[in-house]
Amino acid sequence: MPVTKVDTIWMNGKLVKWEEAKIHVLSHVVHYGSSWFEGIRCYDTKRGSAIFRLDAHIRRLYDSVKIYRATIPYMKEQLEAAIKETIRANKLKACYIRPIVYRGYGDVGVNPLGCPVDVAIAVWEWGAYLGDEALEKGIETCVASWQRFAPNTAPTMAKAGGNYLNSQLIKLEALAGGYVEGIALDSFGNVSEGSGENIFLVRDETVFTPPISAALLPGVTRSSIMTLVRDLGYRLVEMNIPREMLFTVDEVFFTGTAAEITPIRSVDRISVGEGKPGPITRQLQKAFFDVVKDANDKYEWLSFV
Ligand code: PMP
Repeated sequence: MPVTKVDTIWMNGKLVKWEEAKIHVLSHVVHYGSSWFEGIRCYDTKRGSAIFRLDAHIRRLYDSVKIYRATIPYMKEQLEAAIKETIRANKLKACYIRPIVYRGYGDVGVNPLGCPVDVAIAVWEWGAYLGDEALEKGIETCVASWQRFAPNTAPTMAKAGGNYLNSQLIKLEALAGGYVEGIALDSFGNVSEGSGENIFLVRDETVFTPPISAALLPGVTRSSIMTLVRDLGYRLVEMNIPREMLFTVDEVFFTGTAAEITPIRSVDRISVGEGKPGPITRQLQKAFFDVVKDANDKYEWLSFV
């Protein structure tokens, strides 16, 4: 999806012009994938621009960085303020927010300790990640031949730049096969997640999702949907999901900041249920969009800009 340019990007404490937000080609991150980032959405609500679960995203960013023995040179509150400042500076009502922490320019070689930990925040306008029709009609997916990382290889709880090499293989394979997105299995052959989304399955009013031990990113949308599922009175089961369950359930959907709640209408050309978004997926979509649009004050998930 092409990015729509805005005026400024926040880099190491300062707003710089979009065109000048550059890094050196010998920065550690370019060679070794050493970055940690977030994808966050800001929605235009009746009470003004509001960021969805900013605290949860910032917490995951600090967790990701800690796993790699790095330290963000700012307090959480400073980064939260910087995000709001960047949105205001670019006069955006609704946007996608991309804070990124990376090992910058310094020493060369795998050892990152001689390189600074740099921080940038970019914001831009972004519509539906998997296409406008995706939210409405659902998408066609396949099970990828590429698996997610095995335990104790690349940590999947960290949202690290390097992990997205695996995501790219999954996505490219899906696109090459004429699908919109791929579903990856973990190294034990159980269902893990999409290239950039978590996954949920529904059968007989029970909602299933794989546990974080299934090599997935602990999604902020995933945790929000788990809460909504319980609050709507459905049974939520977090368990290892055998691949074939994708073919027998009534509904399947992806969750993610970019993908929001995207129904899946087929897996490997086998239709999910009747091949169109099911009633529980629809109900959860509505509940989710009510919360992010500030039409439900039960959840304190919005942080106003
Ligand atoms: N899994 C992966 C691999 C992702 O990149 C994302 C997007 N951040 C997700 C799951 C969904 O996470 P979230 O709901 O926090 O956006």
